[in-house]
Amino acid sequence: MLWQALPAVATRDYISAMFTLLVTHPACLDHLNPAGHPERPDRLRAVAQALEGERFQDLARVEAPKAEIEAIGLCHPLDYINAIKEATPANGLTRLDADTSMSPGSFEAALRAAGGAVLAVDAVMSKRAPNAFVATRPPGHHTETARPMGFCLFNNAAIAARYAQKRHSLERVAIVDFDVHHGNGSQDIFWSDANVMYCSTHEMPLYPGTGAVTERGEHDTIVNAPLRAGNDGTQFRAAFETVILPRLRAFRPDLIVISAGFDAHMRDPLANLNLVEADFGWVTRKLMDVADACAEGRVVSLLEGGYDLQGLAQSAAAHVTALMRG
Ligand SMILES: [Zn+2]
Repeated sequence: MLWQALPAVATRDYISAMFTLLVTHPACLDHLNPAGHPERPDRLRAVAQALEGERFQDLARVEAPKAEIEAIGLCHPLDYINAIKEATPANGLTRLDADTSMSPGSFEAALRAAGGAVLAVDAVMSKRAPNAFVATRPPGHHTETARPMGFCLFNNAAIAARYAQKRHSLERVAIVDFDVHHGNGSQDIFWSDANVMYCSTHEMPLYPGTGAVTERGEHDTIVNAPLRAGNDGTQFRAAFETVILPRLRAFRPDLIVISAGFDAHMRDPLANLNLVEADFGWVTRKLMDVADACAEGRVVSLLEGGYDLQGLAQSAAAHVTALMRG
């Protein structure tokens, strides 16, 4: 049995059944991009610093383990995983595409980003934590089945969803992606999967160019709700209220995985939406309401984008405050 080889990470006794779990690892600071690249280690430092405040004392904190290759293999072919491993430079940087690079620490960081997602699933499934926020990098939602893209190496949210199905026998999982960019990778991986719903709000037109309303998947389980440059929380909340939340409620997922990118914040330099921290808190509470109704409250949230350090830190803090029911 493949899964008997996996470590029983969720049994660590400092994970409390009562408290939101924060999963991170310092090795995620060792994934480097070229100078001036927006996806930089300081992002993770800013999130960590924001979550050290007084109101986050009750977070249960755990380090992200390296994912087993078998878990990553649920979404990516072994040839692809090996190609990423072999692309890791001994020193300096290797460029995989115009936006995506690797440094000597990138492969371990990517293993821990995926491993943190897997640990978080184990923790909420075993009721060691009601929900979890995984603050790692590199992000994941642009990675297609066998293509690194848009700062992403492995698709952490997709791995979490498939792992929950295979390891914990969940029937239906929903991935909700409010990163300002469309998660083309997650859409690609689950295009033909009737049991994983992928929902996204994103600015359009914008990188990577996918995410039209007409892209619905083979089983109508892809739900795209694009927004326009200049839209703010009013249109964002309306997209959730009128499009995404009704579809989610009807789908009745057993687990909600959030691709939590905070680059729709008004301060973000890569996009043109005008969300504020309160909008991220609002959407988090709405998704928790759905999870409470059909998934025993189970929510696993994974950091994706967010490139203005202040906007990112404040938005992540609002998101985690909501997860803590604060
Ligand atoms: Zn993004």
